[in-house]
Amino acid sequence: MEGIRVRFAPSPTGPLHIGGARTALFNWLLARRYNGTMILRSEDTDLERSSLESEKNIMEDLKWLGMDWDEGVDVGGSYGPYRQTERLELYQKYTQRLLEEGRAYYCFCSGEELEAERKRQLSRGETPRYSGKCYHLSPAEQERLRAEGYKPAIRFRVPTGQQVPVLDEVRGRVEFESDGIGDFVIVKSDGNPTYNYACVIDDHHMEITHVIRGEEHLSNTPSQVMLYEALGWTPPAFAHTSLILAEDRSKMSKRKGDTSVKQYRDKGYLPEAVVNFLALLGWSPEGEEEIFLPQELVAQFSLDRVSRSPAVFNIDKLRWLNGHYIKNSPLDRITKLAVPYLVQAGYLGEDLTPEEWEWVTLVVAAVREYLTCLAEITDHVDIFFNDEIEFEEEGLQEVLRQEQVPRVVAALRKALAGLPELTPATAKKMLGDIRKDLQLGGKKVYMPLRIALTGSNHGPELHELIAILGRERVEYRLGRTLGLAGVEG
Ligand code: GLU
Repeated sequence: MEGIRVRFAPSPTGPLHIGGARTALFNWLLARRYNGTMILRSEDTDLERSSLESEKNIMEDLKWLGMDWDEGVDVGGSYGPYRQTERLELYQKYTQRLLEEGRAYYCFCSGEELEAERKRQLSRGETPRYSGKCYHLSPAEQERLRAEGYKPAIRFRVPTGQQVPVLDEVRGRVEFESDGIGDFVIVKSDGNPTYNYACVIDDHHMEITHVIRGEEHLSNTPSQVMLYEALGWTPPAFAHTSLILAEDRSKMSKRKGDTSVKQYRDKGYLPEAVVNFLALLGWSPEGEEEIFLPQELVAQFSLDRVSRSPAVFNIDKLRWLNGHYIKNSPLDRITKLAVPYLVQAGYLGEDLTPEEWEWVTLVVAAVREYLTCLAEITDHVDIFFNDEIEFEEEGLQEVLRQEQVPRVVAALRKALAGLPELTPATAKKMLGDIRKDLQLGGKKVYMPLRIALTGSNHGPELHELIAILGRERVEYRLGRTLGLAGVEG
């Protein structure tokens, strides 16, 4: 694995999808594990659908996920340029050569003709492929068509009767019949190379050693292998990772859930959770452990543990992993990431003072264990912001009418008044002391206080809640709820 060179080669025609991110990750993990080189190449030859905006977004998402690259569109490198539209001369050079050697030819067929041919073949139950008709055009006929204004595409002449082997690190040796593949277009009539063609020339020129990509490209690979052969080059090693299926084992689609990295990012998934999750989509570690930080993945990743059976996108697993990282990351970091959701929901203003930061950090600490993504924080915080407590259920008022409640409330008021500093820790001790002093079980102390302060019999830790609310708001809430329940307070 010395000196490996891998690439992630997205077509910048939209956001980075989960599948693309996994491809990027597997390449990156292999490069970093073996001190290899990671390359980012922009396959932007589809001029109508490609944009610099998408290219930028893809790079941003990759960086957000924690990946970096040694060569690429933004960082340069000695094998550049790294955008295919900037490499057209290189492709033209080889097109010329293939044309001269009779391995490629001009095709003047129109889109309609090709479509009609395709339909005829399908109706006869045949696999549609190009008939090779234009291969037989004489130079004079070509001249005439050109004079009539036809702009030809260029097709590769596929050798007949060959077995084309694809040596795949994940799938082993996969053989294709060349006869099943029609002469395919390598240069479109607008002069731009097709994916299969540009990809081969670039992978060769960039000295790529391993092509790791999704299974959807396996069927392109025999065409690419034939091009390597025609150009006299040795193909790189291939590794086609399995498809990612939706939970119902059908194709993943936007209808069935979020498919782009940005959507998960926007909902408050942490990059390390997404990376951990993506790594397990098709790669399996040796032991039972499922939690891996990026550096642990780098230390363990290998192609021989990449599976050839489809990976199922299990959103609950992603949620679980994300919840794990939310709970276990430094609180300051989680707070910084969570605050924008609170601002957006109108709980907080834009610029927080240091005191407000300190306060909201306590709020995040109190609720983060309930979150599977940070956007959910807004479902859990009303209790800290809204003092106009209502009882969640009628029955809860009854608890406030228990005989010990006036004593408990009085003890709380007294203890709070005498507390030099109110923090979760001092509040915890205070509550314990109240219980001891009154010689009451936890349920008789904590339950009524919880209901009096929140109107609910469940929620965050009582001591955290009290510290977050502060003395005045505790007093306000006690007065209000006890009043509503008709209890002297
Ligand atoms: N541009 C292709 C894609 O985005 C790259 C495939 C490959 O890695 O060869 O699917």
